Amino acid sequence: MITENLRQLRRNIPENVQLVCVSKFHSIDEIREAYNSGERIFGESKVQELTSKHELLPADIEWHFIGHLQSNKVKYIVPFVSLIHSVDSLKLLQEVDKQAQKAGRNVNCLLQVHIALEETKFGFNEVELLQLIESGELKELKHITICGLMGMATFTDNTEQVRSEFRTLKSLFDRIKTHMQDVLSAFNILSMGMSDDYPVAIEEGSTMVRIGSKIFGQRLYK
Ligand SMILES: *Cc1c(COP(=O)(O)O)cnc(C)c1O
Repeated sequence: MITENLRQLRRNIPENVQLVCVSKFHSIDEIREAYNSGERIFGESKVQELTSKHELLPADIEWHFIGHLQSNKVKYIVPFVSLIHSVDSLKLLQEVDKQAQKAGRNVNCLLQVHIALEETKFGFNEVELLQLIESGELKELKHITICGLMGMATFTDNTEQVRSEFRTLKSLFDRIKTHMQDVLSAFNILSMGMSDDYPVAIEEGSTMVRIGSKIFGQRLYK
């Protein structure tokens, strides 16, 4: 089933858009099936779950962290994580930088932007984000690379609402990329789009989609 789901999904995703297979709450065997179909990028949203799966699965998997991250847990994922999508404060960036230095590596991060109507979703608003970038604080962080932005649209059937949120994020991404080249020279990733809204996200300029249930089936939990 997973193999067939991936085959269909791959037909709908252009080659220049990266696919993160969101494997949260799914088993090692299910992840292995996706791996055997050729997938190498997997996303998890809980630190404990990510670290234990990382230990059990092949070393050439690129693990992405996509969930809300607490500062005190950063140290557990920094030694191996490929990309953290969900950085939503300067404090968290500083902790990732500190732990990355300790681990002797550079860690790639995206800044999460709050674009949805729901209060429950995390992320910077536009003003906070621009203030952070213009503050000069990012230059102090020598062990992280800010690679772009991540956002989650409102959970709704209203496609036009979702489209306008993605469009807002894309235009913010383009503005930062154009005007902040000196501070953010590796700013290339726009992570937006999930199982229900990835076609719209791709139309609106996504470079990386995070897809779970369309690959692995429904989860019992969010
Ligand atoms: C769970 C999750 C996804 C995947 O959701 P699906 O609707 O199952 O595709 C993507 N992004 C984030 C941040 C998530 O937490």
